[in-house]
Amino acid sequence: MTLTEPVAAAAPLLDGPALWPAQAHLPTVLGRQVVIARGEGSYVMTTDGRRLFDGTAGLWHANVGHAHPVLAEAARRQMLTLETYHIFARFVNDQALALGERLAAIAPIARPKVILNSGGSDAIDVACKLARRHWQLAGRPDKTIILSREFSYHGLHAYGTSIAGLDMNREGYGTDSLVPETARVPLHDADQVAKVIAEHGAERIAAIVTEPIQGTGGVNPPHDGYLTELQELCRQHDILFVLDEVITGFGRTGQMFAAQRYGLDPDLITFAKGVTSGYAPLGGVLVAPRVWEAFYRDSPDTPVFRHGATYAGHATACAVALAHLDLLEAERLVPRVAELEGRLRTELDALAARQPGVAEVRVAGFLGGVALVDEIAATDVADDLIELGFVSRPLRGNTLQLSPPFITTDAELAAFVAAVDQAVSARLARG
Ligand code: PMP
Repeated sequence: MTLTEPVAAAAPLLDGPALWPAQAHLPTVLGRQVVIARGEGSYVMTTDGRRLFDGTAGLWHANVGHAHPVLAEAARRQMLTLETYHIFARFVNDQALALGERLAAIAPIARPKVILNSGGSDAIDVACKLARRHWQLAGRPDKTIILSREFSYHGLHAYGTSIAGLDMNREGYGTDSLVPETARVPLHDADQVAKVIAEHGAERIAAIVTEPIQGTGGVNPPHDGYLTELQELCRQHDILFVLDEVITGFGRTGQMFAAQRYGLDPDLITFAKGVTSGYAPLGGVLVAPRVWEAFYRDSPDTPVFRHGATYAGHATACAVALAHLDLLEAERLVPRVAELEGRLRTELDALAARQPGVAEVRVAGFLGGVALVDEIAATDVADDLIELGFVSRPLRGNTLQLSPPFITTDAELAAFVAAVDQAVSARLARG
């Protein structure tokens, strides 16, 4: 067979929709897609009339819930005023400027600068490029290697693919050659990180990138002291410390940023999702003075950070983010997350105690992972949960994701965990 010859495909695959779904094994997914057409608070409605509790807040993004009229109105007003204008060279728009000030005021980094773009994968590309550029300008051009933790997820653009700790996301692209000069460190052991640094040589390492709480890798909270030790290693060896707060940023841990929860002082923070609760595609990077200073010197020789995109600082996305940050404050949703963390922990501890199909539960912030025993598959349980009216999601390690919107009531949370219990029991009984 030559490479250009078409491969035989079953009719349902060929006759399916033109849209190519993301991260999907097509023979498994096509013909049984769950088509969401409407949202309302913590619920989403399918085209075939089902109403599902959004127990994952979509992809950990719908923190204030779905179809909020205040955010719709903010977008409408901005589009009627100015949909957007780019922020290249001398041009900028007022909404991007205002959002920059607002983010700088709440950032856990002192005197930060704010880079804006369209999402988490974008933000990771920027952070990694900026780290390399930083060391090049500092006269240390050999510091190019980016370290990340095993099982990490940092999006799927070129850099996110290359630093992925979930190996399946790196495979098939020339595993270590898409963006070369990356390496993985173990999930929980800082002593092992020190060894990896020594193996490569600190003089070769630009940055360590880490999620404070791993999401897609299975909801893995950091072991006590691990992140502080990682930061300490970075300081000791002149390595930039990059915190990927794409999931944790804007309240998911009961603090505005996980950096505050864990007492960290990173050089760069990537954010996305929670900055708008997904009402507009927006992400970015908070940059510490140590990194931005070289670009802000008043001199003809001052270098340019050659990065940017048409939609960087998109005015409508920024207006939505500003309205969204007002909403988080007005409805006191971040302190509510701190309460929800306690409820989730109580619920999941009780589940682990009574349900033999649960191997382990992990909670940090309003993020829960329910790891199942080997006899049953999280994929099957997630499918069954849809039938029961709840959205969960299988993650690495045979784990179910529980990360509902911040507006979830105690009763809804209890019902969600009860449904997980029921679905696990049913699968166990089937053997
Ligand atoms: N980093 C982390 C920690 C993420 O969880 C994600 C998305 N799930 C990304 C980066 C990529 O973000 P996006 O999908 O917006 O590109």
